[in-house]
Amino acid sequence: MPVPVPFWRAKTLAAMTRAEWESLCDGCGRCCLHKLRDEETDALAFTEVACRLLDIASCRCADYERRRRWVPDCVKLTPRRVAAADWLPPTCAYRLLAEGKDLPWWHPLVSGDPETVHRAGVSVRGRAVRERDAGAFEDHVAAWPGRWPRRAGPPPPALPRPRAAGAGPRTVVRRVPAAAAARAPGRGARNGTA
Ligand code: SF4
Ligand code: SF4
Repeated sequence: MPVPVPFWRAKTLAAMTRAEWESLCDGCGRCCLHKLRDEETDALAFTEVACRLLDIASCRCADYERRRRWVPDCVKLTPRRVAAADWLPPTCAYRLLAEGKDLPWWHPLVSGDPETVHRAGVSVRGRAVRERDAGAFEDHVAAWPGRWPRRAGPPPPALPRPRAAGAGPRTVVRRVPAAAAARAPGRGARNGTA
């Protein structure tokens, strides 16, 4: 009997149901870190400072359904925004699939265990700084949120193409921070994130 193909290999991002889309988030919390964008050069810098709504122990938004009441510039991820985002970490499932790659071994949909994203060193657990404790964001610029961690193993291979065609674009709700980020140089950008 043929093995069923997982939805993320069979469908485009735009063809996924909302439940499928939401399940792609690995809970790493990286997109909920503030970012800084230089107004003149457009250069992006990641920081270790978490959005004030991020629970830095669980790496989850503390009030996801109502987050925009508290953080109006929290970005909703959509397939189109994912394709244009330069602020999503290289480990982000949305970015990986948009680049035609598979999900890695530590992704909860693959491992069946929500803890593997932490064990692989992908999440912000133990590394994020609370916004209220941070002071100047410029003092917390870090490279790791934009890098693939060694413990996570090699990045996943490309998926065979073409993927099955799907329905047309669908509006999806996924938090993401910072993208909207670009403001005055040195200002925090609400992460896109996680
Ligand atoms: S960036 Fe958005 S999703 Fe992330 S913690 Fe803040 S409000 Fe929640
Ligand atoms: S949306 Fe944010 S929390 Fe979810 S996988 Fe991508 S970077 Fe991680």
